[in-house]
Amino acid sequence: MEQPSHDPDQERRPSAAKQVAGAAAKKAAKKAAVTAAKTVAKSPIGMKIILIGGVILVLLLILVVFIGSLFMASFSSSSDTRSFTSGGQISQTGLEAIPPEFIEYYKAAEAEYGVPWNILAGVHRVETVFSTNVSESYAGAVGHMQFMPCTWVGWNHPTCGGLGRGDISLAELRDPAVVAKYGGYGTDGDGDGIPDPWSVQDAIMSAAKYLAANGGADGKLDKALYAYNNSKKYVKDVLDFAESYVSGGTAIVSGEGTVWPGTSARIITSGYKVRWGKQHAGIDIAAPGDSTGIPIVAFMPGTVIFSGVRGGYGNCIIIDHGNNVSTLYGHMVSTSPFWAGDQVAAGQEIGAIGNTGGSKGAHLHFEVRIKDSPVDPLPYVKGFNPIIQDPDIK
Ligand SMILES: [Zn+2]
Repeated sequence: MEQPSHDPDQERRPSAAKQVAGAAAKKAAKKAAVTAAKTVAKSPIGMKIILIGGVILVLLLILVVFIGSLFMASFSSSSDTRSFTSGGQISQTGLEAIPPEFIEYYKAAEAEYGVPWNILAGVHRVETVFSTNVSESYAGAVGHMQFMPCTWVGWNHPTCGGLGRGDISLAELRDPAVVAKYGGYGTDGDGDGIPDPWSVQDAIMSAAKYLAANGGADGKLDKALYAYNNSKKYVKDVLDFAESYVSGGTAIVSGEGTVWPGTSARIITSGYKVRWGKQHAGIDIAAPGDSTGIPIVAFMPGTVIFSGVRGGYGNCIIIDHGNNVSTLYGHMVSTSPFWAGDQVAAGQEIGAIGNTGGSKGAHLHFEVRIKDSPVDPLPYVKGFNPIIQDPDIK
């Protein structure tokens, strides 16, 4: 993080370069036209044709430069209008990239200050690659979230100024009374009473407090991030990481327009987890008595986008529910009577539980996918009170 004194709104004004380029192009065109007109008037007819051709060429070139400058200007300001998915369920990328122990810290900070957890993860990623590089920065930023000491302890500290390095002892940085006195953002997140930039929980909580105070809790994420580190590239990098850590799409509320897909099969024997060295991308719903033929119904209304045999899934059907949400049903006893392009209603029978593909025992393998990436289906089906027999599911 760098000094927080810059006005981020400045970055949103139309580019000055655009206006200068436009004026210069107009001036050059006018000058070329006047010069050409004078020259043409003095020359013989043959020369006149060549000169007029040349003039047209020059004017075209100026036009190309002018349009190019407009294009560059609009391109450079396009980042101001990006839509952004904040908070929400973790994506596959997030699961793979973020050390799992940090996620509860981000979520606790989101609950406290209203800054989306994935933004905090993005800052953590860009600042110290999830605490793998917590050495002091060249500018003097410290700890897991790279705070300037003056921002941590408070800019009213007598040694604070400039970039915010100050001359602050470790004891002062970690003294809640000193931080309170100088109005700093240093916060105790781990409950030991000490605001410590080298405690990852404290640092994450403090970053949330700082971002919230700069608009991060009111959706002004680019403004807040710009205040954290005065660089457009920094803002873009954090937003890109943050975006990749959540699934997006719409929230599906269990029980509202959704139907338990397993009918009389109600026991979840295996959850969404790493199993036998790879990700088990859905939940397994076992058929009672290992019997095949129990009806499978559509979880939500939608359009069939796949129906047939698919590798380890055996007989399989995938339904697109819109808003980037789809569901998959695997190991069916036979292929579905519905085919790609067919519409199905929530609760409509789409197949029967079987034991096809890579299956050991009759069960339905059920996946929820957002933007084609599987997410944990459990939050979406918990409301149906299934019987959970996977010891890994808490
Ligand atoms: Zn499965």
